Amino acid sequence: MKKDNLFVLVAIVFMSAAMVWFMFQNQTVSPRVMENDEVAQVFEEEYGAKPYTGKKVILAEAEWKERLKPDEFWVMREEGTEPSGTGKYDKFYEKGIYNCAACGLPLFSSDTKYDSRTGWPSFWAPINPSHVGYRNDKSLFSTRVKIHCNRCEGHIGHVFKDGPPPTGHRYCVNSMALKFVPEGRSQSE
Ligand SMILES: [Zn+2]
Repeated sequence: MKKDNLFVLVAIVFMSAAMVWFMFQNQTVSPRVMENDEVAQVFEEEYGAKPYTGKKVILAEAEWKERLKPDEFWVMREEGTEPSGTGKYDKFYEKGIYNCAACGLPLFSSDTKYDSRTGWPSFWAPINPSHVGYRNDKSLFSTRVKIHCNRCEGHIGHVFKDGPPPTGHRYCVNSMALKFVPEGRSQSE
């Protein structure tokens, strides 16, 4: 009797392992590759994304390295993430506009900023739906959506669906990817 139980247990363990392996195989070996248009449509439906129609700022990586501070380069060109709670705009609630630290395109407004208690500046919407771009960020165990400045392609952070009303979105942004301009001050000052 004891032997039978053991046999059943081993069989169950083996079958479970086989099932997990099979599911994992299905997920990783044969993902359906979406066309660019399909991907764009998903981001339009889910986040209201719009294509950027202005002139792009495209520079060689060496030029970005010269222009940006090392930390900014790491976040914006190498997709680094500043440690939680260390960014200068985390607990910062002055009125104004947050521009792209690399090219100056306005990305977010203080009007949509809120305290997400994550340690990163968080917004529930971009200042203009065409200024922020979206890409899938596939790592081994999760699929996240990373966001970038649509003018210079600089990485700024990620977007999640656990934000407050009215959008329910959380744009989780690195302070290093932003430059704050207080309300009433011109962009060039
Ligand atoms: Zn930019």
